[in-house]
Amino acid sequence: MTAPPSVLITGCSSGIGRACALRMHRSGMTVYATARRPKTLKPLADEGIRTLRLDVTDEESMREAVDTVEAAHGAVGVLVNSAGYALSGVVEEAGLDDMRRQFETNVFGLARLSQLVLPAMRAARSGTIVNVSSIFGRYAVPGGGVYQASKHAVEALSDALRLETAAFGVRVALIEPGPVRTTEFGATYIANFKPVSEDYAEFRSRTAEYFDAIYTGSRRTLAGTFAIQADDVARTVERVARSPRPRARYPVGFLAHSTLALRRLAPDVVFDNLFVRRAFPVPRNTGRRPVPRVGPEPRQPRHQGDKS
Ligand code: NAP
Repeated sequence: MTAPPSVLITGCSSGIGRACALRMHRSGMTVYATARRPKTLKPLADEGIRTLRLDVTDEESMREAVDTVEAAHGAVGVLVNSAGYALSGVVEEAGLDDMRRQFETNVFGLARLSQLVLPAMRAARSGTIVNVSSIFGRYAVPGGGVYQASKHAVEALSDALRLETAAFGVRVALIEPGPVRTTEFGATYIANFKPVSEDYAEFRSRTAEYFDAIYTGSRRTLAGTFAIQADDVARTVERVARSPRPRARYPVGFLAHSTLALRRLAPDVVFDNLFVRRAFPVPRNTGRRPVPRVGPEPRQPRHQGDKS
């Protein structure tokens, strides 16, 4: 019988990372739960889970964590990249430093940690990298453009990596949850949306209400009604970790399955107007200044006698 794989998980102070650590530990895997603030891992340590400090923006902490697991197991069996947060706000007003920080955590952290575990995984001709993306890795809506760009980048990196490492027995899979009721994630999203222009103020308050409904469990919106729990995502992550041939991507939850199917089938104009504009808050022109109608140029009447 083969030994259960060792699992290294990022972002275990709360939410999906923590749910993965608990679920996979309870199912008999050797879990290394990590977070940038080790004291947040105490409840997991009390369950008997091994804990390590790991900040995905700190190279040394990533190296040390990988070295620890490799010293005990030869290679990381499964890497679950879950650490991440969402920068909110309209693209026009996103600060470049905030955008860089978003990519530093959600994209470069995940990419660098994958680079660090890969040599030993390749040598072992085995291993799985599970990247927690989002439905927003496949489409974008107003107010989350930078976060959604970071998840699109995660999808592209994962697609390339999957094909690059398959020959060496290393599997790469994407997890694409719809809204997940994780309090910290929602609180961060709402808190960091601070519009500068009055034009976006009303949109900001509707966005806050919308996300509040998801994370407080209100059924006022589609997303609030169908939001899932962190453990629903963890169940899928565990399934992927145990699979000898995981699929490339795993939507999680009804909203993920349905909206990603629509995204595949609908042209942009239909997707925007029939889905995004109805299901998500979108900025409105609430000021007094009218917006000139934008549309195709009117056809010029043909000049009489023009034979062309
Ligand atoms: P969460 O409860 O806020 O958990 C995010 C985790 O990432 C926390 O442990 C946080 O640690 C950690 N983190 C942030 N920056 C880090 C860094 N530099 N180094 C290490 N850890 C860091 O949110 P969640 O919902 O579980 O999110 C987990 C993943 O799921 C994210 O990648 C997110 O994009 C994705 N996702 C979430 C949803 C959703 O609706 N919640 C939907 C789709 C996808 P601290 O406590 O130290 O900040």
